[in-house]
Amino acid sequence: MGERLGHAVVVGYARAYLDRLREDVRKLNGAVAVPDVAGIASGVAEAATAGELSSLRRVINCTGVLLHTGLGRAPLAEEAIDAMVEAARDYASVEIDLPTGERSQRVVAVEKLLCELTGAEAAIVANNNAGATMLTLAAIAQGREVIVSRGELIEIGGSFRLPDVMATSGARLREVGTTNKTRIGDYRAAIGPDTAALMRAHPSNFVVVGFTERASLDELVALGREHKLVVIDDIGSGALVDFGRFGFTGEPVAAESIAAGADIVLFSGDKLLGGPQCGVAVGRREAIGWLAKHPMMRALRVDKLTLAALAATLRLYRDPSVAVARVPLLAMLATPVDSLRQRSEALAERLAAFDGIAEARAMEDDTFLGGGSIPTQRLATWCAAIRPASGGLDSLAERLQKGVPAVVGRVQNDWLLLDLRSVPQRLDGEILDAVQSASGPAAST
Ligand SMILES: *Cc1c(COP(=O)(O)O)cnc(C)c1O
Repeated sequence: MGERLGHAVVVGYARAYLDRLREDVRKLNGAVAVPDVAGIASGVAEAATAGELSSLRRVINCTGVLLHTGLGRAPLAEEAIDAMVEAARDYASVEIDLPTGERSQRVVAVEKLLCELTGAEAAIVANNNAGATMLTLAAIAQGREVIVSRGELIEIGGSFRLPDVMATSGARLREVGTTNKTRIGDYRAAIGPDTAALMRAHPSNFVVVGFTERASLDELVALGREHKLVVIDDIGSGALVDFGRFGFTGEPVAAESIAAGADIVLFSGDKLLGGPQCGVAVGRREAIGWLAKHPMMRALRVDKLTLAALAATLRLYRDPSVAVARVPLLAMLATPVDSLRQRSEALAERLAAFDGIAEARAMEDDTFLGGGSIPTQRLATWCAAIRPASGGLDSLAERLQKGVPAVVGRVQNDWLLLDLRSVPQRLDGEILDAVQSASGPAAST
């Protein structure tokens, strides 16, 4: 331990341990059994082991929620991981064009790919979509008005509220229409000398059904052209392929917004795209140029690791069937229900044999995509459902969650469900090991 952590760190743990022991002895006045030297040594070792466990730990996601924001959204493709490792280990041509030796823009590596995949003229990449949105509004509409439908004043998880993002950017929000109905005439009537842009935001994490109406992007683009206004389309999830192939309907695709004529299309890199955390703005060369030149761009720019991972992920999308096979998010979505059923049956059979498990069975269920994407459409799945031999479900769930790696499932109707929709098959063995140690005799002491 001394070799791995270094002398000073181990001494720190030893001092803290002894201080605590002294304090206990003083406070409890002899009611504390003072350990011998070996006991103290193992106490220090235990404290050091616990203290060195990173709070950012590997998790096997058995929640069934594929884009779990609390668990870091999309896992990366092997190609993206390799590209990050390579960029991390050595220097990289981040801002140098190697053939000419000239200084170039940071985003060149991915701009071409983003343009190829979306049909846009230009692209920039920011730290996340909240950042890309803020940058867009600051660069396009600072001190001026942006017209948004009342049905699209969205909140995406706590700190992203469109009205607040707009206020922070310095743009003035001009709300039009109503929660359920906004027509193109509502936008038209609100246009004035101070108007800079028309903005659409995909209400990613909720759906308004019933008596509803929304202006089409075609109508907004025509209106924008007529009045020389920038049309911004925040599509949120950043689908590069039609998610209809996975049974999901109505999710906007970046290329369709570009084809409809939007000047700037915004989306996240780590939602449906299945890449690293980032925010992408694609669109007309002139409009994207205003973003690239804005001072806020410097504060929001991504590092070489993100660029490397994004470029590698995008390369997979040049052939959609390659993307479905290689991008983990798409591969997990595309996994046939029958294969999940077989895996859950095999797991349940092994789990049932553990001493600490009273009952285990394969269970059919459904789940959601998560990450504020496609909130109402369900995804068929199979789970390994377990009940512990002793102790409650919650305490088994808690022990699994504290393990290394952590396993996070969901407690539902008197079962702890380990949902395989969000688990690549290569992790099934680790789930067995984790349940065995979390439910075994050592776990309950
Ligand atoms: C998720 C989302 C955002 C925020 O994106 P982040 O990458 O999480 O910052 C913004 N707009 C819409 C419509 C979204 O769905």
